[in-house]
Amino acid sequence: MSAKIAYISKLGADYPVSNHFTLGEMRCKDGSDMVLYSTELMQRLEELRFYGGFTIMINSGYRTDAYNRKIGGASKSQHIEGTAADIIVKKDGVTVDAKKICCLCQTLGFKGIGYISANATHVDMRATGSYRGDERSDHSSNVGNDFYSYFKIDPSVIETMKIMATEKEEDEMTQKQFDRLMENYLARLNAKKASAWSKEERAWAEANKLIIGDANGNKQYKAYCTREQMVMLLYRLYKKIKGE
Ligand SMILES: [Zn+2]
Repeated sequence: MSAKIAYISKLGADYPVSNHFTLGEMRCKDGSDMVLYSTELMQRLEELRFYGGFTIMINSGYRTDAYNRKIGGASKSQHIEGTAADIIVKKDGVTVDAKKICCLCQTLGFKGIGYISANATHVDMRATGSYRGDERSDHSSNVGNDFYSYFKIDPSVIETMKIMATEKEEDEMTQKQFDRLMENYLARLNAKKASAWSKEERAWAEANKLIIGDANGNKQYKAYCTREQMVMLLYRLYKKIKGE
């Protein structure tokens, strides 16, 4: 599970590393240009976000070796690999208990999970092995395999955090959906009746066969005119003037 290498100077801080996370959110706090990020980690974070309709703040993503040492991070920290993130998870603006987040992340298949504080959780997608830690005292206090039993949280509590499919945030519109909406919009314009103020001009145009309308006799006065239609109108007018 190697991480991708990206540069803020090349891609910009707003470059999306997944649907809802940017390169800037994963960059090292020391301002380094190079950023490592694991697409697998970002994908799991998306799943976490989706599960409860959460907002996720990445407190610490990628760390350079120097920065990690400076802040006293674990010597083999997954942050150095770009496979870890320390996160704060919120629901409707309220921070979700990190004990619950630890349990949920376990269910969602994060490889490494650490309880940092009541607000913050460490998650990672390390290449081998797994880690469940209570980091309140140190960086290696493994709690065993199961956060549910460690924190005495019933799985049903986590299940109730799951939002129903209908509540889930709408996915971005597909091109197909956009095309369909556009077609509906144009069809509505097509069916609209002409306004009274153009009555005289319309009568003239129709009498002179400049406006003929479609097969149903609909003159489509409120529809947009294409350049193709415009040139056709001009040609009809030209022929009319020439007396052809
Ligand atoms: Zn961490």
